[in-house]
Amino acid sequence: MSRLDARYLRRRLLEAQHEQTPVALAGSAFVALCAGGYYWWLTEELFFPVWLLASLALVIARLAIYLTLERQRNRSQSLDELHWQRLYFSSVIVAAVSWAAIGLFVELTLPFDESAFIYVCLAGMVAGSVASTASVSPRLYLSFSAITLLPLSFVLLVSLQAQKVAMGLICIAFFIFTQRSTFRIYQVFEGFMSSNLVNEQLLRELRQEQRRVLKLNDQLREDLVKRINTEKQLRTEKQRAEALAEKLYELSSIDGLTEIPNRRYFDELLAEEWSRALRSGTVLSLIICDIDYFKDFNDQYGHLVGDECLKAVARELDLHARRAGDSVARFGGEEFAVLLPGTQLDAALRLADEMRESVKALGILHRGSKVSDLVTISMGVASMVPSLDARPQQLLKEADEALYRAKHEGRDRVVSAA
Ligand code: GH3
Ligand code: MG
Ligand code: MG
Repeated sequence: MSRLDARYLRRRLLEAQHEQTPVALAGSAFVALCAGGYYWWLTEELFFPVWLLASLALVIARLAIYLTLERQRNRSQSLDELHWQRLYFSSVIVAAVSWAAIGLFVELTLPFDESAFIYVCLAGMVAGSVASTASVSPRLYLSFSAITLLPLSFVLLVSLQAQKVAMGLICIAFFIFTQRSTFRIYQVFEGFMSSNLVNEQLLRELRQEQRRVLKLNDQLREDLVKRINTEKQLRTEKQRAEALAEKLYELSSIDGLTEIPNRRYFDELLAEEWSRALRSGTVLSLIICDIDYFKDFNDQYGHLVGDECLKAVARELDLHARRAGDSVARFGGEEFAVLLPGTQLDAALRLADEMRESVKALGILHRGSKVSDLVTISMGVASMVPSLDARPQQLLKEADEALYRAKHEGRDRVVSAA
């Protein structure tokens, strides 16, 4: 048994003994009153009232010990079990001595028939103390019963009177048999307490385990919440990054000055539309526009006004390319490209002419131009049904050549590549 277990057992035994104390004290007081009172009445010897007072004082002292311990238990103060046990043992031994004293006094001073009552009282005390001492400590019971009975038995035996010897033998036999049975009672009691201890330990361990599982559960829940939050945050960050990337792409595809798609975007778009038209076997038209004498415009009005002119032309061209799939892009400095998927050459030529007219109709003065007083544009138009052996650059080249011809033929005009 470990030190802790031994302490636990001592405590339990102390408690069991403590619970028996009031009944044991009531029994002691009652028997003391009967024995002391009876012999005082019978003999009027001073010994008996003195003995009776001493016995009652002892009962009161033991009651005080009981009440002090009870108070400490109620206040849940920590107990020094060994101290209390020693105190209890001592009070029991003193009680045994007092019982031995009255037994011997009666035996030595009174005739046999008058002392019979004290034998009954002593036997009753010894038998009654089984409950209050044997279950707690067989040693205590042994001490109590030995002190109470054995000196008296010895005196009875050595008296050599048949009746007294017989009584002495009865006392000894009583002493031996009660020892044996109290030892068994103690074993049962100790076994019961030990299994109780094991059960309580198991229960404690179970509670600890339960607390550990609950804590683990809480931790898991916290981790899960954290994970969900992190995932949420990650998702938001991802969405923000995607939006940013889209914005960036848009920014990198838009011309900063005119705010229409730039050359990079146009190249991608041309490749895409080319593939689409190749798959569907439809026509793809392209217009390339170039502002006439724009260098002279800049020279005349300054670069900032030139920028404004570029913006106005871009806006105007964009206004005309309204069919789904039509797109206008800034192709170079003062050049623009209009991509028209699914538009035949004649329709593209018509649209180009409308654009040319409407740019001119903007009425932007251009004194440096040799073809007009207003800003004008020249346009080359090409159309093609893409085939596997052709390239998008071919369409570009044809439109560019048509533009070149438009410039040569006097500008402010639309020329078809065909
Ligand atoms: P042509 O009629 O033969 O096209 O003559 P042009 O003067 O228009 O052609 P050229 O290629 O000699 O000059 C193009 C001019 O466009 C030169 C350049 O200063 C001007 N330009 C190009 N980009 C910009 C721009 O972003 N802003 C301004 N203000 N001018 C630009
Ligand atoms: Mg040019
Ligand atoms: Mg030009």
